[in-house]
Formats: sequence, C-alpha cells, structure tokens
Amino acid sequence: MTAYDPSLHRPRSGILSWLGLGRETEQDATSASPEAEAVPVDPLRAARLRHVGDIGQFLAVHDLEVTPYTLAVAHDFLTGEDPQMGRAIEARIQAGEPLSVEWLEQAGRDGSAGGERRALSVLMTRLESNLDEFSRTSSAAKSAATDYSTALESQVNGLQGVENAGEVISELANLAAAMLNRTRELEKEMSRSELQAKTLRRNLDQAKRSAEEDHLTGLPNRRAFEGLLKSEHAAAQAAKEHLCVAFCDIDHFKRINDTHGHDAGDRVLKAVAQTLAKISNDKCHVARHGGEEFVVLLRGKSVNEAWEVLDGAREAMADRRLVNRASDMPFGQVTFSGGIADVFAHGDPRVALKAADEALYRAKAEGRNRIHIAPRAG
Ligand code: GH3
Ligand code: MG
Ligand code: MG
Repeated sequence: MTAYDPSLHRPRSGILSWLGLGRETEQDATSASPEAEAVPVDPLRAARLRHVGDIGQFLAVHDLEVTPYTLAVAHDFLTGEDPQMGRAIEARIQAGEPLSVEWLEQAGRDGSAGGERRALSVLMTRLESNLDEFSRTSSAAKSAATDYSTALESQVNGLQGVENAGEVISELANLAAAMLNRTRELEKEMSRSELQAKTLRRNLDQAKRSAEEDHLTGLPNRRAFEGLLKSEHAAAQAAKEHLCVAFCDIDHFKRINDTHGHDAGDRVLKAVAQTLAKISNDKCHVARHGGEEFVVLLRGKSVNEAWEVLDGAREAMADRRLVNRASDMPFGQVTFSGGIADVFAHGDPRVALKAADEALYRAKAEGRNRIHIAPRAG
C-alpha cells in the first residue's frame, strides 16, 4: 500500500486545533515566541500526535463526518491495519471517486468485516465485565446470607430457650425460625449461582480462545494478534528489547486456486502456515492476518536477526515440493514474500505495521520470494 500523503491535500482550517493539536504543529513551532524554551518532545507522543493529525486531515480532505466509524476507518487506513480495505480506498481515490460513509460501509461489508470484529470484541468485553460483576455480587450475597443465618440461628436458639415464653415470644421464635429456613435456602441458591457463574466464565474463556484462533490453520488470528502486539510491545518496552513486526503474503496464490481449486488452495495455505509456525516460540508469534497474509511478531531480535529467522522460513518453504493429494499433480514451488520493520525505529507499532506492509509490496514488485526490511522512519 502506498503511504497516504496528507501534504497533497490542504486540511480544512482549524481541524488540528479542534483536535487539540495546535501547539504541536509545525506551523506553531515556527511561530513560537523567541523566549519560549525548547521542550524536548517525546518521540512516541509526537508520533501519536502526528497520527491523530493525519486522521483529522484524512476526514477533512475527504469531507467525511467525524463519527466513531469514520475515525476507525481513517485509523485503519493510515496504519494499514486493514490492508484489504486500505487497497479498496486507495483504488477509489485513484479513480477520482468520492469516499462517502455509505461507500465505506459497503466496502467494509464486502471486505474483511473489520467492523464486525470490532463489534464482537466490544460485546465480549462487556459480557466479561458483567460476568465478573455477577460473580462478585453473588459471592458477596452468599457470604452475607451465611453471616445473617448464623446470627439468626443464635437468636432463634435464644428465643426458643426462654422458659414460660408468652404468646408473643413464641410467635417471634416461630417467625425467626421461618426466616432462618428461608435464609438457608437463599444461601444454597447463591451457591448455585456462584457455580453457574464459574461455568459461564469457563465457557466464555473457551469461546474467547476459539474466537482468537484461525480455524483453517490453527494459528492465532488477527484478533489474537492485536492482543499479542499490545502485550509484546509493553514487554519489549519494559525490558528494553527489540521488537520487529513482519507481513508475509503467499506469492501468486490466486493461480494455485485457479489451477487446483479452492480446497487444494486451503491445503497449501495450511502448509505455508505450518512452515511459518516452525519459527514461533514464546518470543516469536505467527498469526494469520486474513486471506493468504500472515503477520509475525519477533521480540528480542534486531531487525537483521529477525530478517535471518524469517528468511530461513522463506527458504524452507521455497525448498518444499508440495503435491496436490487429490490429483497427484505437483503444486510447483510455493513461495511467499515478506516485509519486516523494527517497531521502535518507527515510534509506534501501527506505523511499523504500515512500514512492513510497504516493504512487503516492494518485495513483491522486485520479484517475490524475498523478505525486505523497511527503512527506518524519518
Ligand atoms: P501476489 O503474489 O501479488 O500476492 O498474488 P496473489 O495471487 O497471491 O494475490 P491476490 O490478492 O491477487 O489473490 C489472493 C487470493 O487468495 C485471492 C483469494 O481468493 C485467495 N484466498 C484468500 N483467502 C483464501 C482462503 O482462505 N482459501 C483459499 N483457498 N484462497 C484464499
Ligand atoms: Mg494478499
Ligand atoms: Mg498473495
């Protein structure tokens, strides 16, 4: 995907200051008063601010309303998070057609269903927090009922022990005994609720695991990758380790489908996934990003070391000779191309993902079956 170049378009006046970015813009930096002290800019923060500025420009240039949906689309487009949608948008821009919310929604439905994935993720998070709340409430209610029934029991015993109790005291004793029975029943019900909440939690965890797995290849899917990217980024930052991210894409995969059929194509996809998965360990994660694209996240290796690992997988794949077991016809050499980027050289994982995607497209343009390293940003 080619980089979105906001400098080709002038933003509408005020959009950056509306986004609260006025003081960080180049224009303001040059017009700052001479007395103003030079404040060191945190590069991560500066990259984030630039990113928010680009989102604002994207919406302004294409005359799109600012809504959660258009913000998410602009974010995904600029970061390359949804390459399929990104390519559709680029083709539309190049054709000189306007981007409308209706068109974006249709393209989103036709494409990788990024919107549905986001909605599912919100629902899962909400369900989880409701369940946790229910567990907390039911277990608090159960222990309150236990405390209450213990206290009530001693009152009942006291009342029943009163000698020559009058009618009122006997009535009270009966009433208290009935309350005690009811409280004990409640206690049992709360225990059952607690058990049900635990079972639900287990089912939810299982559903979550299944929602994070790509069912064709068994690899983590794009949703899982999002989580891994966050946690590995935090871990690499904390341990001051390298972090690299790579995109890989099977070469001429359409031909395989066209020649051997979709089911055979699926088997080839699995074989590539299997070869790539061989490099995975607790610091190297391979996920299926969608279609015939994979993402790899490598922590603790410089970009050159990470390239060595990925290039090893590329070579291993190129050396395999796959045969279509349904027809005994050879698939021929199956290869993939890749682009790799050093996350910290790009300030932000999203920017690095986009750089890796661009490096992948250079690898394709230069003949495929190769891995390209993205140049450092700036
Ligand atoms: P390039 O080398 O430029 O990447 O060419 P390509 O043919 O691999 O790329 P293109 O994007 O033209 O085609 C990708 C094809 O991958 C089209 C799509 O039908 C196929 N595909 C995507 N997901 C799956 C899948 O899960 N199973 C199968 N069998 N095919 C898939
Ligand atoms: Mg592709
Ligand atoms: Mg391909």
